[in-house]
Amino acid sequence: MPGGELPVADGHAVIPTINRLLDTRFRHAFATQDWHPPGHSSFASTHTNRQPNDAIPLPYGLQVLWPDHAIQGSPNAELHPDLDSHRIELIIRKGWRPELDSYSAFLENDRLTSTGLKGWLADRGARRLFLCGLAADFCVAWSAEDAVRAGFETFVIEDATRAIGMPRPDGGTSTEEARDRLQALGVTLLQSGDLL
Ligand code: ZN
Repeated sequence: MPGGELPVADGHAVIPTINRLLDTRFRHAFATQDWHPPGHSSFASTHTNRQPNDAIPLPYGLQVLWPDHAIQGSPNAELHPDLDSHRIELIIRKGWRPELDSYSAFLENDRLTSTGLKGWLADRGARRLFLCGLAADFCVAWSAEDAVRAGFETFVIEDATRAIGMPRPDGGTSTEEARDRLQALGVTLLQSGDLL
């Protein structure tokens, strides 16, 4: 959130939209929460001579480094206080293993370690998933990708997301790259007004 440790520009603007969505037609709702121990491997400060936004090889692949954020139990790890959480049945905490980051709500960044969300959704009979939140080009995109691969009909509510928009070597941004990737996978991009 703006003013926080890992701000996404205009990130707070998604909250009223998400609250309206939560108050409408969805049968079940879950959230995710970054929950990192101090010295987490995704923090630039953990590595010598590294800056946020650098990418380094870790045993499971290339990992982008971030400012220290969402330390377990700290106020900055809390969900936004204005988020209407009474409909949220489950909060998946991710990134709690010191050596492994997690963007997706389904699989940690080694793309193997499950968060348990797929089983929870299956037990509740979910077939369609609508995703929103921060950041569109990282945690939301990776979650949508895994949701499709797990067999869910997957939607991203674009005006209920905001992106980091990291520059890419080819001149594009992570936002455009993520959008293209999701559309190629069959994720439906829609607006909250299509649902409200
Ligand atoms: Zn994180």
